Amino acid sequence: MVSVKMITEDFNLKGSDYAHEKELHLDFTHLQKINSLGLRGFIAFLKSIPKTTQIKYHHCSPLLVHMINIVDGLLPSNVEIKSLFIPYFCPTCQKESTFEVHAPFKKESLKVSRQCPDDGAHLELFYQESTFFKFLNG
Ligand SMILES: [Zn+2]
Repeated sequence: MVSVKMITEDFNLKGSDYAHEKELHLDFTHLQKINSLGLRGFIAFLKSIPKTTQIKYHHCSPLLVHMINIVDGLLPSNVEIKSLFIPYFCPTCQKESTFEVHAPFKKESLKVSRQCPDDGAHLELFYQESTFFKFLNG
């Protein structure tokens, strides 16, 4: 498991280091920052890895999922998302919270009723259902 903490100009993984791996597992648990320069470097990294290497994304943050949905090249055919965090907000205390779901993803999992850990209020999705799981269609 390779931990990716920054998708910025500091992103420094080299595709050649993983060219002979059957699988590459990327862990985004500690991902703190994403910017456009970093995305460019990250996409170049993905392109430099042979299509025979299966890349798995683990613990994708809501921001990363959002980027996957709007930026071409973050989900090439040899990449599979294994788990991601769905963002919610509480209409009562305005607190944001996330819940992790695992592949295979279904749009129905967005309809699961979840409660605020602080006050028990019914949480609302941060994104529209159709936009958050857009990557499933492409
Ligand atoms: Zn609340």
